[in-house]
Amino acid sequence: MEKLSSPKKTIEVIQKYNFDFQKKFGQNFLIDGRVLDKIIDAAEISKEDFVLEIGPGIGTMTQYLAENAREVLAVEIDKNLIPILEDTLSEYENVSILNEDILKVDIGKIAKERNGGRPIKVVANLPYYITTPIIMGLFESHVPIASITVMVQKEVADRMQAGPGTKDYGALSLAVQYYAKPYIVANVPPNCFMPRPKVGSAVIRLAKYQQPKIEVSNEKLMFQLIRASFNQRRKTLQNGIKNFSELNFSKEQVAEALEQMEVSASVRGEALTLEQFAHLSNLLDR
Ligand code: SAM
Repeated sequence: MEKLSSPKKTIEVIQKYNFDFQKKFGQNFLIDGRVLDKIIDAAEISKEDFVLEIGPGIGTMTQYLAENAREVLAVEIDKNLIPILEDTLSEYENVSILNEDILKVDIGKIAKERNGGRPIKVVANLPYYITTPIIMGLFESHVPIASITVMVQKEVADRMQAGPGTKDYGALSLAVQYYAKPYIVANVPPNCFMPRPKVGSAVIRLAKYQQPKIEVSNEKLMFQLIRASFNQRRKTLQNGIKNFSELNFSKEQVAEALEQMEVSASVRGEALTLEQFAHLSNLLDR
């Protein structure tokens, strides 16, 4: 069968099945083979790998994954796409399709049963309306994951990769960088999709740390401190923490911790590195 990554083939499949694009599911299908080659390269997929694909659509990326991986599990929420996928992927014996909402799937159980509990690779052209819950869900659930290589909105990729002192730096940068090393592989313009999204896109690879990069005694507290400081970005860190309803530290307690860290009392959260947030959290967690 001809590859689905050509616009002509995609249109043919859409028409054959009279398929209606569902905006609510973030359906923008890839129609550029070069972008797909880049994704497969960046994900470093080999015949040893078990790959989880989120949202296969009509199976465009799934075909590439099936040719390169040992086994692919593709989880698709839209039931109207299931008969299409059964057709477009019929010649691949190493692909299975699950008609489910990815946010409700027990991925840890799947990794255990299908990959002997070894780290799996996640590859996807993500539905943009749930990018952050999907990625954070994968990290926070402590499912064994080697890497996540995904197409996301360009702006989100920039935020994930941003460092202290930049306008894109925020809670998402820190949350992602706590678990993984991000690397933007490519920027992808709207004309590589059908239909065209209104925003630019980018492929980002998140190589998960198999051992935590930083030591923090209370993860929950560290993330509360991070949220407190970016909730009120223009305020000093001391005020941000004092005003954050989930926390109960006095300005003096924060000032003392900052002094021990040799950081100015008037510092803003946006200037602190992940290591400094961890240090602050460890000092306050007593
Ligand atoms: N992978 C295909 C491609 O690159 O052409 C389609 C990508 S499209 C951006 C996103 C896909 O995710 C759609 O097929 C959509 O139906 C599916 N999707 C949306 N929400 C989902 C969810 N909660 N769980 C699983 N799949 C979902």
